[in-house]
Amino acid sequence: MTRSSEDSAREAQPPLATGDTGREGEFPQQAPRLGNQYRDDRVLRGFLDRALPREVHSAIDGDLDALGAHAAAAWVAARARTPEVPVLTQWSAWGERIDRIESTRTWERGAAYSARYGLVAAGHDATHGAHARVDQFARVYLHHVASEFYTCPLAMSDGAATALKAAANHALLDRALPRLLSRDPATLWLSGQWMTETAGGSDVGRTESVARRDADGRWRLHGRKWFTSAIVGEMALTLARPEGAEDGAAALAMFYVEARDAAGRWNGIRIDRLKDKLGTRELPTSEIHLDGALAEPVGELAHGVRLIAPMLNVTRMWNAVCALATMRRCLALAFDYAQRRRAFGRPLIGHPLHRATLAGLQAEFEAAFELVFFVAQLLGRVETDGATAREKALLRVLTPLAKLWTGKLAVRIASEACEAFGGVGYIEDTGMPLLLRDAQVYPIWEGTTNVLALDVLRALDVNGIDDLVAAADALLGEAGADASLREAGADLHSVRAALDAAREWQLAHAAHRDALEAGARGLALTLARAFAAALLARHAAWAVRERGDRVPLAALSLFVGHGLTRLATASMDWTAVLASAQRSAGEP
Ligand SMILES: Cc1cc2nc3c(=O)[nH]c(=O)nc-3n(C[C@H](O)[C@H](O)[C@H](O)COP(=O)(O)OP(=O)(O)OC[C@H]3O[C@@H](n4cnc5c(N)ncnc54)[C@H](O)[C@@H]3O)c2cc1C
Repeated sequence: MTRSSEDSAREAQPPLATGDTGREGEFPQQAPRLGNQYRDDRVLRGFLDRALPREVHSAIDGDLDALGAHAAAAWVAARARTPEVPVLTQWSAWGERIDRIESTRTWERGAAYSARYGLVAAGHDATHGAHARVDQFARVYLHHVASEFYTCPLAMSDGAATALKAAANHALLDRALPRLLSRDPATLWLSGQWMTETAGGSDVGRTESVARRDADGRWRLHGRKWFTSAIVGEMALTLARPEGAEDGAAALAMFYVEARDAAGRWNGIRIDRLKDKLGTRELPTSEIHLDGALAEPVGELAHGVRLIAPMLNVTRMWNAVCALATMRRCLALAFDYAQRRRAFGRPLIGHPLHRATLAGLQAEFEAAFELVFFVAQLLGRVETDGATAREKALLRVLTPLAKLWTGKLAVRIASEACEAFGGVGYIEDTGMPLLLRDAQVYPIWEGTTNVLALDVLRALDVNGIDDLVAAADALLGEAGADASLREAGADLHSVRAALDAAREWQLAHAAHRDALEAGARGLALTLARAFAAALLARHAAWAVRERGDRVPLAALSLFVGHGLTRLATASMDWTAVLASAQRSAGEP
């Protein structure tokens, strides 16, 4: 740790309580403490040491160190103040419709941090070639919790930059790309992704917004967007049905919209209200009406879902990285607290069951980390044209797998972390309930678990399961070739067995669409876990060989010990019986 980051992390800490035995009548407990979240993160640092060339790692080390120090300081600062939420003012005192949103103080500093550390720009920067995405997502992972979900509009901005590049609309690229990728807060733009409507969320084909040409031949959008999290942004990509086009998803077109005109007035947009949400409360998620918003088609006047897909792949990656960040924060706090809090005569960490509980969660996190950052590596290779067709197919299936698994895991780890604090884990100003509430968003937005499990089936329909299994096998071969891993008794056999079971399950159900869909979650979770185990095995072999470090091997053993398969075959008959037995209100 450099002096500066060490000092700032230390200064950010509250003084230690005087002890936890306490005098009679008192109940003093020590708050958990966070050090520099980069320097202290063995998992991130180990991955970067293995995956990045030394010169790339050295080049970004200073920024990661600063982000790690800020993460610790921001956690303490946030606990010391009353939580803030954005406020919408719809009318001025004089009856003028203004729809002004006042952001929280953390959000007001969001552009400065994002630009300074290139949270979007780094992913598109050619300096580190195919490593750009690993560089970027390491930054995002360190900054996410401190950003208080400013990462949500950043994810959509990154997605918009990626979708505009893929659509190769040069006029829009010239206008928007330098702003989306700006490293100057004064010129940085945020983009929204306005897809969800009241009728069509997952089922986007039911989108009701319409695009009509005005008297001057320009496109104007009319409709209602039901969840728009980046309404404070300067632009958005959205879907609408050109007037007269057929029903269904294929007839939707993707449009580019700027939120305000040159004079700073809203571009035919009304903000109906801000959502009152379970978590992510700093994020101004709004319901809006489009009343003739001027818009430009990004590509052809159809197949908008295909055009917006590159955006979704990127925002799903951000979702997975942010889910990892929440897990890491929960575990850092829970492990620290377990050393401070005593029960039954010793620190919590000294109790075999508490230790096993936390270590088991850490093992799950380490496997998930390997999967998510492997997908970041793949994305970087694909975007810099360094990838084979097989790697492109692998990216297609691993992106929804990483998103869906980490979304669920973050909720589980956040819930366990609250419990690991006992009663105070339920108390607001410890910050733990906030982590749990926020975590619940990861499995919902950017595609729910079920929707993504079905997306995995579609990817397997196109590319088959064999390439995925072969890629995992290659990783296991690499790991198994290492004598130290074999000698340590790493259970690679169970990983292979889980992959084989997934393949057999998929083949056995391929002809029965309902049964295949009903078991899609189990298949997806099995594939995610088995692939992650293969990656963790490769990393563990490297750590033992290069560093004499057996800690990743411990994570591998515990993770595999939890079982990798989650396959389940639901009886179609019994699920129908049980579901139809649940009466709806109002039924006779
Ligand atoms: C805080 C927050 C911010 C958001 N911000 C944005 C934003 O900025 N832009 C935006 O466009 N959207 C945004 N969303 C919306 C979000 O992406 C959608 O709510 C989400 O994709 C789910 O869509 P839905 O609400 O229509 O749910 P539904 O599609 O109605 O799903 C309901 C349930 O049915 C299940 N389901 C649906 N179809 C199937 C199927 N075929 N098989 C099995 N199960 C199925 C789902 O898994 C889910 O459990 C936001 C949501 C939240 C919570």
